[in-house]
Amino acid sequence: MSFRLEDNIRENVKNLKPYSSARDEYVSSGTDMIFLDANENPYENGVNRYPDPQQRGLKSLLALQKGISNNQLLLGNGSDEVLDLLFRAFCEPKEDNVITMPPTYGMYTVLSDLNIVENKRVLLTSNFEPDVDTILQTVTKNSKIIFVCSPNNPTGNAFSQERIAQLLENFDGLVVIDEAYIDFSESPSWVSQLDKYPNLVVTQTLSKAYGMAGIRLGICIASEEIIKVLNKIKPPYNVNELTQQRAVDRLKDLGSVKDEIAGILRERKLLKEALEDIDFVQKVFPTDANFILAQVDDAGLRYNQLLQHGIVVRNRSKQPLCKNTLRFTVGTKEENKNVVRVLKTLTNQY
Ligand SMILES: *Cc1c(COP(=O)(O)O)cnc(C)c1O
Repeated sequence: MSFRLEDNIRENVKNLKPYSSARDEYVSSGTDMIFLDANENPYENGVNRYPDPQQRGLKSLLALQKGISNNQLLLGNGSDEVLDLLFRAFCEPKEDNVITMPPTYGMYTVLSDLNIVENKRVLLTSNFEPDVDTILQTVTKNSKIIFVCSPNNPTGNAFSQERIAQLLENFDGLVVIDEAYIDFSESPSWVSQLDKYPNLVVTQTLSKAYGMAGIRLGICIASEEIIKVLNKIKPPYNVNELTQQRAVDRLKDLGSVKDEIAGILRERKLLKEALEDIDFVQKVFPTDANFILAQVDDAGLRYNQLLQHGIVVRNRSKQPLCKNTLRFTVGTKEENKNVVRVLKTLTNQY
């Protein structure tokens, strides 16, 4: 493998002079100062000042918990912003391409369309694993990113580590591993492998296991060199003050997060077993996430029947390899009980 970061950065990004905000230019040392540099309203209300563009407090906590340095972190307004920054930093519109592996997270395609970057799709194998040989054959000199969603949405499984390693070792562009669901999985995070693979980028989020989808905090973890490139192009104040405060509070209370994850895993097992007992459920796929993909006799029928009982699941039937599948997010004990109770009453009538 011969990954060279320089060969992967867009020319305009290399030449860009980043916006320098007031808060970048002068960093407070903590002593009482008079700040007349950012045209803010001086009357204190908790959010009258611009937020820290580098989110130092929040990053220090994250760095400590993940065993990395602050300079290996970039935070965004959800992972969706992080993924968009990756496109904009590394993919030349109308020239470069990325590789995705359907069935997978829909945002990779939305972002490739938005950024006018070709999306080369290589289907997962029938047991929902990356088809490494076909992927490596599909790669061209303009392939810049392979998106690996593990555990994968909507299938739920974490991919084989050997297969992911093969991609990292044999691809000269970036391998972005989307670990939105890693905290529900027994597979280890790839964050521990960053020193070994210079082309590895890991994305995580507070939206799922950490229970904070509403604050929008996405996390990108990579080499300091890659983070430097992303920092150059990120909007200066992309993570707002309220989000930074709430995220810090939550990260200081990891015990609660872990308890909730444990509860969700217990419920996942019960829900999975209950689904396997429903007669119109034909297959329940293995899951390493906080949702379960199940194949049913008629997904459209079952989706509508559940809706009539006030239960909203996701019909994933239009995705390749996912014919007649519904995706059930694991809810509270109470919610799951209700879902199972309703599932047991459904008839074959429309
Ligand atoms: C939910 C999800 C995310 C989270 O996106 P945010 O913008 O951080 O809320 C990222 N990737 C995948 C695969 C997801 O399913």
